[in-house]
Order: sequence, then structure tokens, then C-alpha cells
Amino acid sequence: MNLIVQVGIDDTDSKKGMCTTYVCAVAIGRLEATNVKILGCPKLIRLNPNWKLKTRGNCAVAFTAELEKRQVPAFKEIILRTVRELAELQAEDTNPGVVFYYGEKIPLKLKSFSKKVIQDIVTIEEAESVARLVGAEMYKFKLGRGVIGALAAIGNTLDWDRTFELIAYRTPENRGSPRRIDVNSVIEMNKKTFPRTFDNLDPTTGEIRITPHTPCPILYGIRGETAEMVIKAHRLVKALEPIERVVVYQTNQGTDEHLRNVKISEAKPFWSVVVNGVVSQKPKVIRGGHVIFRIRDSTGEIDCAAYEPTRQFREAMKKLLPGDEVQVYGGIKEKPGLPLTINLEKLRVLKLASYFRKENPRCPSCGKRMKSEGRGKGYSCKKCKTNSPPNSARLIRVKRDLNLEMYEVPPRARRHLAKPLIRVKFSTREF
Ligand SMILES: [Zn+2]
Repeated sequence: MNLIVQVGIDDTDSKKGMCTTYVCAVAIGRLEATNVKILGCPKLIRLNPNWKLKTRGNCAVAFTAELEKRQVPAFKEIILRTVRELAELQAEDTNPGVVFYYGEKIPLKLKSFSKKVIQDIVTIEEAESVARLVGAEMYKFKLGRGVIGALAAIGNTLDWDRTFELIAYRTPENRGSPRRIDVNSVIEMNKKTFPRTFDNLDPTTGEIRITPHTPCPILYGIRGETAEMVIKAHRLVKALEPIERVVVYQTNQGTDEHLRNVKISEAKPFWSVVVNGVVSQKPKVIRGGHVIFRIRDSTGEIDCAAYEPTRQFREAMKKLLPGDEVQVYGGIKEKPGLPLTINLEKLRVLKLASYFRKENPRCPSCGKRMKSEGRGKGYSCKKCKTNSPPNSARLIRVKRDLNLEMYEVPPRARRHLAKPLIRVKFSTREF
């Protein structure tokens, strides 16, 4: 009789190196060598991006295996040994956790725990109590904070939406040195597979987005809508250095799973939200080139910020005016003594306020614009000595240089979880 075991791993990397997906990839390779069957694609789950204690991308992994009951002790030993061997245990903030869950079906309790880890803040005690309730086994290394993300990765069934990422890993001798990859092949790949793959290039700078800039073992990662599509794209990319292994993950990246709809007064630090409101204070550019404006709804007011790296997104935000109705998407930041601020990921313009400017009447004799005689005193032409009453001025509607559409930050400034506009267009799920 075969058993289904789900495994979650988290918090094995540090700012200096490693990547939890690589630990997962190596563990899977070792398990397959012992005739354990891996079911489907492993999961790469991005957790709350606003959490202070996160490592780089705050991601956890999970996978499902099928094995014989007698294989269980060796199975667990291989996974725990791989974590012990590869995790950056010497780094103070690296506190790995491994979780085993026996069975295929994920209980509701575990699903909602997973949602909470992605949208909110969760303690180790809370994770431990959920694990006890659903019968999951936890293994902690050092402080073992990773058990939170490991359990959340198991609990995320990706029902809401899912994308895929193919990750190609570097061989050990190349790690830490510049990544060698044929840039033109990436441009070609993008031409052939976009938008079924996405975030390969930054359209504003032409920069290649598939290679990370960290010292981790990843050579490149290609994001797309299906496993077939990222594999096709991978075959089009020419790596100029050896690839140790390739794994396709299913993931919550690019799904907006971190967001929740709230009224302004409900917004809390560390949350990521979608808020509908009306612009109440004109955008201003502050030091560093950041754009800040304020919105309100029936419950209160909150600031919205578009930071300098968001480039042309910022230019669009500058064109907002008081009275404009918007829907904003982003993570909430708290700064002492200041109102809460939404760090914008996307903004939808729902309705533009009407603005008018006065146009003075033309002189009936010479046709030139007449000058105002002062407030309420009408208009005159000095040359022809003609006069016009105050009500002869026309109100002209100011043409607004914004469309009723969604604006997004460029790929380089985008959160892993934020859904790119190209996916919003094809998706039926809306806030
Ligand atoms: Zn005149």
C-alpha cells in the first residue's frame, strides 16, 4: 500500500546565498534515485512580501511524493540531511523548517492558515497549533521559523490561480560569478512565447529579467502560464555555461494572492490591499523623485506612493487630480508619525474628475481674445474699445491625459506576487 506524503521546506537561504528552491530540487533528485515517485510539479509559494523577517523573495517550497510505507524513515532522512547540508545555517537569520503531511487532501484549516501566511503575519506557535490539529510533523533547525512557510506551502492548493516557473540551476563552480547567457536568445524567446511567458524583459529598459542578481544557485527562471510553455521557452534560451538541473514549479507568483479588498480604516501595516477611493490631495513629488498622493473613502484617508524605480508609472500618477476615482493595489507601509502609505503596485483609473478652464471671449471687431477687467467686471478690447459682459467667457473642459484603465509598475519594480497587467487582461478574476 503506497502512501502520499507532502513535504514543505522554508527559510534555508540567506542574503549571501542558497535558495530554498535549490534545496528542494536536490532533495527531489536524491529521492527519485531511491524510487520515490514525485507527483506533479513542486510548488514555489511566495509568502507575505511585507514581512520584516523575510529573506530575499520570501518563498517556500512544497512537493508531493508517493512511496511505500517502509520507505518513510529513509525518505525523511534524505530530506532532513539535504536541508542540513545545503541550508545557510551559519547565517543568523536563517532558521529552516521542514514539515511532513501524510495524505492527499488538504484540510480547510490548513488552507486558511496558508492564506494567512501570504496575507498577514503568523507566529511559530500558531503554525505549531495548526500542525497539531491537522497531524503534520514539524522539524526545526535553530529557531525553526521556516516551519511557518513550510506548512503554508503545503497548505496552498493554488486554487485561486497559478502560474509556472522553470528554474535552471548553475553548477557549483560558477556560482557567485556573472551569469553567462545569450541575451539575443532571450529576446527571441520572448518574441515567440510572450504573453504565454511573462516578465522575461523589461519593456522600458530592455533589461533581461530572467537572470537574478543575487549570488544564489539560479542561472535563470522563466515564468509562464503553463508547464509546457516554460519548457518550450527554456529550449529557446541559450545558456553559455553548464546547467546542473532544471525544475518546473507551479507557483502563486503573478496571481495577486497577497491582496485583500479593504476600506481605508481597516488597512493594517504588513497587509497588501486593494482600496477604492477618491483622490483627495494632488500628487506631489518628494525628494528622491517619489510621487505621493492621498485618497479617501467613507472611512478615512491614506497616502499612496509610487517610488522612483517605478519610472513611467510615476509619470502617470503625477497626472491624477483631486476628485478622480481610483482603485489602488499595493503593500501597506508604516512610518512613525506619518499616515499609513500604500506602496503602489497597480492603479486603475475608474473615473476622471471634470476640470474646466475659463476662455475669455473674442473681440467682436478685431477677433483677438479680450482681457478681463477684473473679477465680475466683464471683458474688454483696449484697441477697439469694445466690452463684453462677465458671462461671455466660455468654460472649456480640460483634456485629461489619463485613460480609464489600469496602470502598473514595470517588471523591475514588481513584487513576485503582483499580477502583471498582461495577466490581468486574460484573467477572469477581478477585485
Ligand atoms: Zn478688438
